[in-house]
Amino acid sequence: MTPGKTAVVIGAGLGGLAVAIRLQAAGVATTLLERRDLPGGRAYVYKDQGFTFDAGPTVITDPSAIEALFEAAGKPMRDYVELLPVAPFYRLCWEDGTFFDYGNDQAELERQIHAMEPADVEGYRRFLEYSKAVLAEGYIKLGAVPFLSFKDMLQAGPQLARLQAWRSVYGMVAKFVRNEKLRQAFSFHALLVGGNPFSTSSIYTLIHALERQWGVWFPRGGTGALVQGLAKLFEDLGGRLVLNADVTALDTEGDRIVAARTADGQRWPADVVASNADVVHTYGELLGQHPRGQREAERLKGKRFSNSLFVVHFGLKREQPQLQHHTVCFGARYQPLIKEIFNGPRLPDDFSLYLHTPCATDPSLAPPGCSSHYVLAPVPHLGNADTDWEIEEPRYRERILSYLEQRYMPGLRADLVTCRSFTPVDFRDQLNAHLGSAFSLEPVLTQSAWFRPHNRDQQVNNLYLVGAGTHPGAGVPGVIASAKATAGLMLEDLHA
Ligand SMILES: Cc1cc2nc3c(=O)[nH]c(=O)nc-3n(C[C@H](O)[C@H](O)[C@H](O)COP(=O)(O)OP(=O)(O)OC[C@H]3O[C@@H](n4cnc5c(N)ncnc54)[C@H](O)[C@@H]3O)c2cc1C
Repeated sequence: MTPGKTAVVIGAGLGGLAVAIRLQAAGVATTLLERRDLPGGRAYVYKDQGFTFDAGPTVITDPSAIEALFEAAGKPMRDYVELLPVAPFYRLCWEDGTFFDYGNDQAELERQIHAMEPADVEGYRRFLEYSKAVLAEGYIKLGAVPFLSFKDMLQAGPQLARLQAWRSVYGMVAKFVRNEKLRQAFSFHALLVGGNPFSTSSIYTLIHALERQWGVWFPRGGTGALVQGLAKLFEDLGGRLVLNADVTALDTEGDRIVAARTADGQRWPADVVASNADVVHTYGELLGQHPRGQREAERLKGKRFSNSLFVVHFGLKREQPQLQHHTVCFGARYQPLIKEIFNGPRLPDDFSLYLHTPCATDPSLAPPGCSSHYVLAPVPHLGNADTDWEIEEPRYRERILSYLEQRYMPGLRADLVTCRSFTPVDFRDQLNAHLGSAFSLEPVLTQSAWFRPHNRDQQVNNLYLVGAGTHPGAGVPGVIASAKATAGLMLEDLHA
């Protein structure tokens, strides 16, 4: 226990909630300040006319990381959240009508792989073994270890070299399987955490083994129900969650933060502060009056940031029984499209889509006989394409909906009850995301582990980071692991 100590956490994204729970559970009186009217961050929830729309994460992997939060708090998870299994994990579809149901049944996977390319069955088995080895090293061993010194990086070096971490995800998959569609099927996962499969380290192939090992899950009531469950857990422990609390500055004395200040003029003193907000925003805006803040923000602006997303949430007056919960709709181009998404210089003419159909697992997310959905297209961030989203938003939305109508959801537009979109400008303005990036710093090897902004600042030593911008990186398991690493450091420092 840490009696008498106080912490402020800025931002109630999943990383912010997780670190706040760990601190409060350890006896640190913790205040969680969130600028929006609901917790969740990227996992925000919209409700309209009986439809519930999760704004962001829908593929929930590694439930053991979530369970560990409840264990740390000494509460049974079942009292707060129920996770439902999703099968198949995804349906992957191509424009020629081929599809691949990717799930956890080895025999069924091999049957489908054999139908596409008999020689790839053996290759897939070897790929799975490789992916399992990366999972053991890169996630289970190193995921929640804070890389604070270059020595930590050097120590991980031999494993990284053995696993050929310098190769890209696609490059590694291509060593094992020949069929282009199967190469796409086993490399697209990098996109789920903001990585370009052609330049992100092959370490990210671990997502495949992660899904195979622990499955793909969906909370009953949607990802929003998971957020609500974590917020309730934090408050049940005695933590204080303050919504509509926009932090505008961090007050410092020398190299220490003494308080956070919010837009309404309130001051929130604390012994330690963790920021779950975007890293450029944290340094440039919140710590902007300290020389360290300006310097670090400028340095970070020189880094590569992940792509953005264009997301359309829509409710239909009809069910869609032909759809699986998660559908990936590959467009005609793979590598050239991804190159344009990550480098610009403009919004590509074509797209690949992810379509969410949560009612396939939990019909309560729409009124009876109806269905709620979102569809997202990865798009360049605001620094890579100078798109005027006010003009483009209705056009792009129309193109995407008409594409879905032609290929996946007949009569879609006539069945629309409600529809809204979230653009890169919304990522920038509503979430303070630098360049409207959906996943913060791009997870290339030179921006990972020690090369990523550290979980504890090196100079302002009671400032900590948590979430997608710090180690290990984006994605629900990633930000929950970052919270474990960050809370560990904070508690160690408070005890010292
Ligand atoms: C559309 C979409 C789909 C995704 N799908 C998946 C998926 O299926 N599976 C998966 O694992 N991952 C997915 N991801 C990635 C995952 O959602 C994110 O990496 C993760 O949720 C980010 O969490 P975070 O802790 O970094 O915080 P964020 O969600 O970024 O939250 C940060 C919080 O800080 C708040 N904030 C910012 N500035 C301030 C301030 N000055 N004062 C107070 N509060 C502030 C923001 O309002 C926000 O609530 C998806 C992401 C998106 C956008």
